[in-house]
Amino acid sequence: MALVNEYYLRLANNYLFQEVAKKVNAFKLAHPEMRVISLGIGDVTQPLCPAVVEAMHKAVDEMGSKDTFHGYGPEHGYDFLRDAIIKYDFLPRGVHVQREEVFINDGAKSDTGNIQELLRWDNSVGVTDPIYPVYLDSNTMIGRTGVMENGRWTNVTYFPCTAENAFTPQLPDHRVDMIYLCYPNNPTGTVISKGELRKWVDFALRNDAIILYDAAYEAYIQDEDIPHSIYEIKGARRCAIEFRSYSKTAGFTGVRCGYTVIPKEVMAVTFDGRERVSLNRLWARRQGTKFNGASYISQRAAEAIYTPEGRKQVQETINYYMGNAKIMTEALESMGFEVYGGKNAPYLWVKTPGGETSWAFFDELLYGAGVVCTPGVGFGPSGEGYFRLTAFGGRDDCKEAMRRISDWCK
Ligand code: PLP
Repeated sequence: MALVNEYYLRLANNYLFQEVAKKVNAFKLAHPEMRVISLGIGDVTQPLCPAVVEAMHKAVDEMGSKDTFHGYGPEHGYDFLRDAIIKYDFLPRGVHVQREEVFINDGAKSDTGNIQELLRWDNSVGVTDPIYPVYLDSNTMIGRTGVMENGRWTNVTYFPCTAENAFTPQLPDHRVDMIYLCYPNNPTGTVISKGELRKWVDFALRNDAIILYDAAYEAYIQDEDIPHSIYEIKGARRCAIEFRSYSKTAGFTGVRCGYTVIPKEVMAVTFDGRERVSLNRLWARRQGTKFNGASYISQRAAEAIYTPEGRKQVQETINYYMGNAKIMTEALESMGFEVYGGKNAPYLWVKTPGGETSWAFFDELLYGAGVVCTPGVGFGPSGEGYFRLTAFGGRDDCKEAMRRISDWCK
C-alpha cells in the first residue's frame, strides 16, 4: 500500500482564505439581501493597463501564426524579460544582477513555496510573525516545522512583529538556517529600514544562514529611503534569495508571472561540511526538471510593464490603491481604530477594539457591517488581536465599507 506523506496531515485543514470564504458563504446564504464588501483576500480589482493588454494581444497573434508561434520557451525565462528586469528593477538602485540569476516564474507563490526543497529537511526555520502562510505551510509539508502546539510550530523560531516593538523584528539569540522576511510586509503593511535590514544580512553572513526575501509589494514603497531590494544591502548577494511578483505591481493575479533572483554566491553546505554548493545551480537544475517556463504571452505582458507607457499606467493603478489606503486609514482613525501599515503597502493592519480576538471581530464586522476583513491570527500567533484590510478594492466599495463600519461603530 502506498504510504501518505504524513507531514501534510499536520497542515491546518483549510488554507486561511478558504476558511474566510466558507464563513462569508454561510453569511451570504443567511442574508441574501446584503451585498458583502470584501476587503479580505489580497486580490486586485483594477484591470490590466492598456500597454499590457496591447502586448498580450500582439503575443496571442504571434502564437496564432505559423511563422511566429512559440512552443516551449527557455524554462528560466525569455531573455527579453530577464534583461528588462535587470535594467529597470535593479540597475537604477545600483544593484548588479546577472541574467542567469533571474528565474522567471508563474508568480511568487510557487517559488516562495518550492524554494525550501533545495535545503535539507532538518534545517531550522525562522519567520517574522505574523506572516504570509505559504512559507510555513511549505516547510511543514517537508517536516521541517515540527508539530503545532498552542498555535505555534515547535521547530520554528518566531520573530514577533507587533505594535509594542513598532513591527521591527528582533534578531534571535541562536542560529537559524533559513530566515523568511517579507517587505513591504503582508499582512502588516509595514516596511523595514536599510539599517534594520542590514542587521539581518549581517546575522545571516555571521551564521551562514539564508534569507528568503519576499518583495512582492516593493512597487508600493513611497518613502525614498526604504529599500526595494535586499541587494541594496552590502553582502546580501552572499546570503539572500529575493522573490518578486507582477501580481500586485501590475494586476497579474490572473495572468501569472513573477521572478526569483538567486545570486551565484548564495551557498549551502553539504552535511559533511566539505562542499559549498551554489543554490543558483541547484535551482536551475530543479526548474529544469519541474518547470517548463511561464507562458510566452505572460512574459510579453510583463515586459510591457517596463515600457514608458507601461510604467506610467502601472503607477497610476498603484496610486489609485494607495489613495484607497489613505481614505481607509483616515476614516478608521477618525473612528478611533489603531491603524498600522497602509503608507508603503496596500495593507492596513488594525487593532481590534477592546482587545477582542481576531475571529470574533471578523464575525462581528461581517454580520454588523457586511464587510469582510482577514483575521490577524490567521497569519500567526502575533496577529491575534489584529485584522487586515486590503486597499485593493474599487474606490466606491472602499468608501461604502468605511461608511458602513462607521455606522456600525455608532
Ligand atoms: N508573496 C506574498 C507576500 C504575497 O502576499 C503573495 C500573494 O498574495 C505572493 C507572494 C504570491 O503572489 P503571486 O503568486 O500571485 O505572484
